Amino acid sequence: MSKEKYDCLNCPGYCCSYPVIVLTKRDVTRLAKGQDVSFEEAEKRFTRKDHGYKRIMKRKPDAHYGRICHFFHLEERRCTIYKTRPAICRDFPGTKKCGYYDFLQFERNGQEDPEYVSTTHHDED
Ligand code: SF4
Ligand code: SF4
Repeated sequence: MSKEKYDCLNCPGYCCSYPVIVLTKRDVTRLAKGQDVSFEEAEKRFTRKDHGYKRIMKRKPDAHYGRICHFFHLEERRCTIYKTRPAICRDFPGTKKCGYYDFLQFERNGQEDPEYVSTTHHDED
């Protein structure tokens, strides 16, 4: 029985576009192991100091969200390091529901059934 009310495989990866994905030392160690590089190399290649944090995930351009996590697969819209992803990614969204996914479902329902949006939004008519 699935406990989550969202499906990451059916989402373009909004949470991976967050500008500040904070990495702990442990995250970098796991990342380094997964990428088969040293801690120092992983820290240098995949993280940067910003927003008051010692290490946040580096990002790259993305047509969908502007910028997205360095490890995100741009075409397949998924994490390429799922098994070694940082703790913050494992914990997100932290509840059984994901607000963005709800929003996405709402938009998709609207596209499939225009009546759905017009009756819910109470537009001018
Ligand atoms: S947690 Fe939410 S925003 Fe992130 S990939 Fe899953 S459904 Fe999308
Ligand atoms: S490590 Fe994976 S789950 Fe975390 S932000 Fe990057 S692509 Fe998304």
